[in-house]
Amino acid sequence: MSKQDSQTVIARCRELAAISEMSGGTFRTFLSPAMRRCYEVIGEWMKRAGMTVRLDPAGNLRGLRAGLHPGKGVLLMGSHLDTVRDAGAFDGILGVILAIAIVENLQPEPLPFDLEVIGFCEEEGVRYVPFIGSRALIGTLDEQTLKRTDSAGITMADAITNFGLDPAEIPKAALKTPALGFLEFHIEQGPVLDAAGESVGIVTSIAGQNHALVKFVGSANHAGTTPMHLRRDALSAAAQWIVTVEDSARSTPGLVATIGQISLQPSISNVIPGEVTMSLDVRHAENQVRIAGLNAIHQSAKEISHQRGLELLWTDGLKMNTVQMDDNLTGILSAASPEGTRRMASGAGHDAMILAPHIPSAMLFLRSPGGISHHPSETVLPRDVDLALEIGQRFIESMRKS
Ligand SMILES: [Zn+2]
Repeated sequence: MSKQDSQTVIARCRELAAISEMSGGTFRTFLSPAMRRCYEVIGEWMKRAGMTVRLDPAGNLRGLRAGLHPGKGVLLMGSHLDTVRDAGAFDGILGVILAIAIVENLQPEPLPFDLEVIGFCEEEGVRYVPFIGSRALIGTLDEQTLKRTDSAGITMADAITNFGLDPAEIPKAALKTPALGFLEFHIEQGPVLDAAGESVGIVTSIAGQNHALVKFVGSANHAGTTPMHLRRDALSAAAQWIVTVEDSARSTPGLVATIGQISLQPSISNVIPGEVTMSLDVRHAENQVRIAGLNAIHQSAKEISHQRGLELLWTDGLKMNTVQMDDNLTGILSAASPEGTRRMASGAGHDAMILAPHIPSAMLFLRSPGGISHHPSETVLPRDVDLALEIGQRFIESMRKS
């Protein structure tokens, strides 16, 4: 058996990028026909690496390499197979393909534990909600979520049935064997490693986040007849607030705050905007700092709306606390990595953040050249992939001895 290196890993990721729901770009969503094809191709590679392959009832692709005492303990490796629209070739899938190559490169003697490579069916949340695959694995995919509909009105339960799986069996996707740990490789999706000229980084935590829907309500009126001092312009208030949001984040190290969506009513050139609705996304690696930042941003919205005689409607959305990676497993990953490898928080959510509260989890970032992700020009450097393969191999070697 020839040793798998970065060339194979990158070629496989590129091959999978062509399996898509759109022409001329990469796009794979939960249980789509492209996903079925993806399962077939990756399933073959898993078999070639000596794994037995199954699709669990939630649609996670799972390759198992039994150890000396099957069912006694399992080390999990993997990431997600779905993508955003017009995605790159490496977000998610690299973590699955690297894991398969690491398994293929192992000596034929069985390990003291089982090894399972998981390709999660869904992480990006494009068709339904994020983290369907990892939630099924830890047994927290509930009935309510199965009733969610996609843009075509198909419930998640029906999508599972239509694919040939049984939603009633989803509890069987949950992990039965005690897990020794979960190791996820993922591209950084940010510019930190690239800017520092570093190949890989060890993730210590995944930043928590708060979302809110923020609405300023003033009054729409004629743009020609309403003097400036008698206006209640919702967009001017929003503009002022957006700048304070940026100022708050800039003045707090590590805090990031984003208004990514904005809509105004009535949105007519000769009418003063009466209502502006915005999304807010606030993240920080430490919960207290994130909450303090969010409170300051909320306070400034109150003050601005008060000064301008507007009404503020603030609706809290998603709240996720920071998730710490496992100290012990992260220590093993650190020891398997070159000396001085950077430790860093992840600003983006990953499957590891769903698994970490239940299974000791560790995560390795690979540099994203140009910091680019969720875009066709997303890439990886062969030397970084080769290093990740070596780190993975050393990681399993230390697990064998521990
Ligand atoms: Zn991802």
